[in-house]
Amino acid sequence: MIKITLLGTGGSAGSPQIGGADGTGDWGELDPTEPRNRRSRPSIVIEAPDGRRLLVDTGPDLRLQLTGCGIPRIDAVMYTHAHADHIAGLDEIRILNRLLGAPMPAFLTAATLGELRQRFDYAFKPWTGGSFFRPVLDTRLISAGETVDILGMQVKILPQGHGAIETLGLRVKDFAYCTDVAWLGETALAALENLDVFVVDCFTRATPHPTHANLDQVLLWVARLAPRRTILTHMGPNMDYRWLCKNLPPGVEPGYDGMVMKLP
Ligand SMILES: [Zn+2]
Repeated sequence: MIKITLLGTGGSAGSPQIGGADGTGDWGELDPTEPRNRRSRPSIVIEAPDGRRLLVDTGPDLRLQLTGCGIPRIDAVMYTHAHADHIAGLDEIRILNRLLGAPMPAFLTAATLGELRQRFDYAFKPWTGGSFFRPVLDTRLISAGETVDILGMQVKILPQGHGAIETLGLRVKDFAYCTDVAWLGETALAALENLDVFVVDCFTRATPHPTHANLDQVLLWVARLAPRRTILTHMGPNMDYRWLCKNLPPGVEPGYDGMVMKLP
């Protein structure tokens, strides 16, 4: 069995965004009285059958996400891409290093590694033993199209278009996570057939967005792939939780921070 926890299901600014008339946050079209509209930056944890945990992305809300979801330890990290909403909690890996007692295995593309090295150069210096006063990553390069063994799980790495850059999606057994995606080619679509659970970027229900799928696009993918269950993530300020529950077709639902799923 694998256990998936959605740590965060919001867009790059989270919801509410900083701002609002009284400074307590700008909710856009979201109902502030619905707790599931409070969304942190997108990230998930996949717990392997042996209990070890893979964290996908280290966003700026990481500490509150792990403590809020009761996740005490991480055994490996995978990066989808190097945008700030997916990497800027990287310094929290220092604490995860202490818990692990070792450099953190980090699976990422050469392009993402290049970005991270520029912005967090200290995290890539060799570990000389002793205490972790800075994050220490043990990098493993991956490429879209490969299937990689991570914590004993066979993880299929999928190519995705995110406007000007490429991001990585992933599939483990019949679960897939495709965040920060506006475009999926035939290779990725073929790898996403017969899913049990499809967690997918859906930033907006308005007109097409240059870097994220909108609801129309997600429903086209769902029509083609027919996953048993589709869960929306990376949701922006017009994706009200209760509106979505009422208006989405059967089998499609909004995710929420802290949502847990168990798959055989
Ligand atoms: Zn993002």
